[in-house]
Amino acid sequence: MTGHFLEGIGGPLPKHIFVALAAVCANVDKGSGSERRRERGTVMGQRPVWIGVDVGGTKIAAGLVDDQGQLLHSTRSPSEAMAGRHAILERITCVCERMQQTAEDMGAAAQALGIASPGLINYEEGSIRFATSALKDWTGTKVVSALEDRLRLPVFLENDANAAALAESRMGAGLGHSDFLYISIGTGIGGGLILGRALHRGIVGGAGNFGHVAIDRRGPRCYCGSRGCVELYASAKALAAQMASDPQLQHFVSRQKPDRQDSEEERSEVRTLIALADEGNHRARELLAEAGRSIGVAAASTIHVINCGLVVVGGGVCHAGRWLMDPLEETIKHSVSPALAAHIAVKQARHTEHAGVLGAALVSREKLYSAAVMQDQGDD
Ligand SMILES: [Zn+2]
Repeated sequence: MTGHFLEGIGGPLPKHIFVALAAVCANVDKGSGSERRRERGTVMGQRPVWIGVDVGGTKIAAGLVDDQGQLLHSTRSPSEAMAGRHAILERITCVCERMQQTAEDMGAAAQALGIASPGLINYEEGSIRFATSALKDWTGTKVVSALEDRLRLPVFLENDANAAALAESRMGAGLGHSDFLYISIGTGIGGGLILGRALHRGIVGGAGNFGHVAIDRRGPRCYCGSRGCVELYASAKALAAQMASDPQLQHFVSRQKPDRQDSEEERSEVRTLIALADEGNHRARELLAEAGRSIGVAAASTIHVINCGLVVVGGGVCHAGRWLMDPLEETIKHSVSPALAAHIAVKQARHTEHAGVLGAALVSREKLYSAAVMQDQGDD
């Protein structure tokens, strides 16, 4: 759960981290109870803001979020994911330096940086335990230490779907729900578990990896080593492949270049699919419904394990709305025990485009404040 920065707690702290923590400590009440942090305050005389960065295969999205969780400013730039880890870290550094300047121009001060990244996170090291080839050479990258050294700011690393789940928990469809399953349907399928209002990350950061819940043990082989994972049936990539091989839909699909593995291309094809469904195309509606049913089967299995009362569906494919969501919800309700079905709600996520940015910023805010409370208690 700790990153490079939190490892310093209890021992000597790097000077820039100590300054950040001391500033946040000034914002911590000495009272008891969970609401130790003042609702509003200033840090070193400036309004505190939090930088969120969402690193993807094609773009780096970044934003500034205030203490109330409102997105104040956002940008988007190419991630240069195929240029390797040094180029990606350089891009993130440039984006964050611009964000720090924008915060200053607003009369605010960036307190910490949250990074949302695809893949399995090593929270102890603040590094990427495993990432797919969509980000070249990203596996093994010590993101937290590299960026803290460059930016002189506390940095926290989170899985992108976990970050989005936290955004829904604090500022979205999961507000007021202590336990829910978040599913992100994009190029791949990700997920996050909020249990007892907190992210459940698992012992090596692998919890909530919903895309690899298997729905057919005789199904096609997945890169994770299993067979029949739901991601192979209902992701944007899977839907784009189904469209390309469907004679009824083929003439609607833009011609793909050979060897193209561009997630933007897959997203645009799914937008075409959704538009066709909206126009009444029966085959487009059936593809989306079948994807919804596949996700519903996997969600029902998960609900039997965690007994949550809510499923939140985000990611670009959730824009399919009822063509996806209705079959998904029906499948869940028909697949779980009646006692559980009576207490399950399915909602579309409130945040899609900025979910990772908002979630990453919220992760950095919560981790820095909780570190400040720990430091404060140590001082008492
Ligand atoms: Zn898999």
